Amino acid sequence: MPILGTQRVSWQEKLGAKVARIRALGHEPSPALLNALEKNERPAVRPAADRKKRQTSRQRKYNGHLRSTYWLAMRRALFAERGKSCEWCHATAKLHVHHVTYERFGQERPEDLVILCRDCHMRVHAGQPALSKSAQATA
Ligand SMILES: [Zn+2]
Ligand SMILES: [Zn+2]
Repeated sequence: MPILGTQRVSWQEKLGAKVARIRALGHEPSPALLNALEKNERPAVRPAADRKKRQTSRQRKYNGHLRSTYWLAMRRALFAERGKSCEWCHATAKLHVHHVTYERFGQERPEDLVILCRDCHMRVHAGQPALSKSAQATA
C-alpha cells in the first residue's frame, strides 16, 4: 500500500495542477507557465521578470521623489548655500546630490545630503574614502 506522504510529485504534475487551478479561477495562466509545460522545461523558482518588476517600482518611487518639488527646492537650497561645487574635490561639473542617509527619504534635511561630482559620487558608492574636505566638515 503506497504511503501518500512519500509519493514524489514531479514538477510537471505540480505545474499542470497550478495551471488547472489558475484556469479554474477563470484566469489565463502566464505564457511562461504554459511555455514551461509545453517545452517540458522547468521554470525558475521565481521568474526573473517578477524581481525586475519589484525593482523598477522601487526605482520608480525613487525617481518620482527626485522629480518632486520638495527635492528640487532642496537641491536649489543646497546649491545656494554651499555653492555649485563638489564638497569633496570642489569640481564644478557633473554635480550630483548624494544621500548620506535615506532615513528621512522624501523629507530630507540638508545634513542628510552632500553635493558631489560624478567621480566622487562613484567613489563614495564604491566605499572609498573622501579625497579631502570631510575632515574639515567636522571642524
Ligand atoms: Zn549617492
Ligand atoms: Zn568631486
